[in-house]
Amino acid sequence: MAITAAPAGLDPSRPYRLHPQVAVRPEEFGALAYHYGNRRLVFLRSPALVELVRRLGDHPSVEAALATVNASRRPAFAAALASLERAELIQDAGPAAARSRPPKDASDGAPPLGSPPASPTGATSRPLVAQLRPGLESPICLTWELTYACNLACVHCLSSSGRRDPAELDTAEARAVIDEMAAMSIFYVNVGGGEPTIRPDFFDLVDYAVDRGVGVKFSTNGTRIDAARAAALAAKDYVDVQVSLDGATAAVNDAVRGEGSYAAARRAMDHLAAAGFGPFKISVVVTRHNLGQLDDFDEIARSYGAQLRLTRLRPSGRGADTWDQLHPTAEQQHQLYRWLLDRPHVLTGDSFFHLSALGESLPGLNLCGAGRVVCLIDPVGDVYACPFVLHPDFRAGNVRQPGGFASVWRQSSLFADLRRSQSGGACSACGAFDACQGGCMAAKFFTGLPLDGPDPECALGHGEPALSRAGVRPATGPGHSRPSPVAVPLRLRRGARS
Ligand code: SF4
Ligand code: SF4
Repeated sequence: MAITAAPAGLDPSRPYRLHPQVAVRPEEFGALAYHYGNRRLVFLRSPALVELVRRLGDHPSVEAALATVNASRRPAFAAALASLERAELIQDAGPAAARSRPPKDASDGAPPLGSPPASPTGATSRPLVAQLRPGLESPICLTWELTYACNLACVHCLSSSGRRDPAELDTAEARAVIDEMAAMSIFYVNVGGGEPTIRPDFFDLVDYAVDRGVGVKFSTNGTRIDAARAAALAAKDYVDVQVSLDGATAAVNDAVRGEGSYAAARRAMDHLAAAGFGPFKISVVVTRHNLGQLDDFDEIARSYGAQLRLTRLRPSGRGADTWDQLHPTAEQQHQLYRWLLDRPHVLTGDSFFHLSALGESLPGLNLCGAGRVVCLIDPVGDVYACPFVLHPDFRAGNVRQPGGFASVWRQSSLFADLRRSQSGGACSACGAFDACQGGCMAAKFFTGLPLDGPDPECALGHGEPALSRAGVRPATGPGHSRPSPVAVPLRLRRGARS
């Protein structure tokens, strides 16, 4: 049998099998497959393809496996298998080939934890966004803020962290949440805070999750990552670290994150690199003050063998108070778009899909995933539609309620509403709507804009007029800031760059 679409790499005459580090989670459209080693997440967009992949190891060769599917689908499925082989989700089952496989390194261009998924094509005609809109059996990106306690007081903190909440989930409750994640085949959890390492049981919880097949990516300000801790982290499988840095120089970073925070973050990076952790992430919230430093951030990441991840500043938490002073200007948004187009290696999650209105779509999920593929559990167990909408209007339930997290995810009326088709409102007449989808719900909500109107940072310039007509901005909450007021330092208000 000739397999026309099989590129070099996949040898159709040889036996292949699912990689032992790959988990497959059934979904309505087919399945999600996740590789715990290289952290690639792949959509298998057809039940027939899922079946083929699952049973691949039962056949003496790829050709023999493909012979079991309808002839009209073989070229597409052969291409999908080749794509899966490149992503290392399937592997040559022959011993000689297995021995020659190089060790995996997540810095080789693989989409890492939290990144938009790759998708073998040709197996379905339904667009991915349409398949994700009704929601998934379990979230892809689950963020878990373990504590509101933090030893810093960043002026844009989305959760207004500072003080620990006395009603925080205790260790037994946190373990029960992890058990649920494992039962729901949630491949990994993004852990944040606050500063999660402040919790005395933090590293025990990390081990508990990993032992149950739930990978952990945690965000840290780096202040508590010393040489010993970095070495311990480097020795763990399925753990990824993301160090926050909001300026490529101490002056720009510390004006937002506090005196000494730049040095602390760089020290943590030094320790991780020295310990051979591998490609950790450097996470940057893009502001008008650090946008001119994008090349410098890229160089810092390169120097560590790390991956740069850019995140959009949202006006939530303390960010609501500082957004007007910190969010990038319209001209800078265009600059950022062009910069990202030229650097597909830079990770962005769903941060900047509103910029796709400017032309070519940026890589990533072109959809607000709130309540569909994304949600957040806060330190007291409240579940919100996404990490940037910590507000009673977007609270779906609590993990302490009967049925736990699974019942919130699957039965909450809020999430059911978010999963229904939303009206494009004023945006539906816009020629860029398919690319931009009206932008970010959180950014609109916390700037007092209607949810079916343009994003406050609309790339086509409709945000500013809308903001001038906007209603009262909703109060953010719950707040956990320390009593001392947090304000943007004067030198940034005056536009200092370095
Ligand atoms: S509300 Fe904004 S940040 Fe949250 S999932 Fe939607 S687009 Fe992303
Ligand atoms: S008007 Fe709406 S759809 Fe069009 S670019 Fe602006 S935010 Fe996007």
